[in-house]
Amino acid sequence: MSYVANVRITPKFKEEGLEGYGTIQYVDLPQGNIKIVNDFFKKYMVKIDDVPWVGKKWMHKAMVQPLMDALRYIEHKCGYDDVYEYIEDLSIYCPRHIWRKASKPLSMHAYGLAFDVNAWENMPGDTWTIPDEIVDVFKNFGFKWGGDFKKPDAMHFELKLKTG
Ligand SMILES: [Zn+2]
Repeated sequence: MSYVANVRITPKFKEEGLEGYGTIQYVDLPQGNIKIVNDFFKKYMVKIDDVPWVGKKWMHKAMVQPLMDALRYIEHKCGYDDVYEYIEDLSIYCPRHIWRKASKPLSMHAYGLAFDVNAWENMPGDTWTIPDEIVDVFKNFGFKWGGDFKKPDAMHFELKLKTG
């Protein structure tokens, strides 16, 4: 099997002057999934053992500080009795294309730079369970909210990337 011939590279970040987030070389798998074939994972992904409420998670090292700071802020400053109700799970790393369509660019989840909050109850549509206050905290700590996208995706938050 000619493996290398199928390798695709996503130059997105570099073209936009975004350094320090890495480059993924990959081959396409069925259903919009990918297999990463370079050293991206080893160089940029870290496992955090104590993410509040959700435990062990892999994420891009650039996302560790803002995500942990935001979650600790929610834990200590927002005063919810049971925040677990709203943040029971965070889906972060997932090597795939946007909408699982191979024609689309790679998802920020492939880079470990995005997270979905309680996906099962925040599917695209008119209703979601994430309080506005929590959305605002994530925004204040440097995330873009999918609820503001042209095609709203309320479960989704992704790190606002910085140039240079
Ligand atoms: Zn997402």
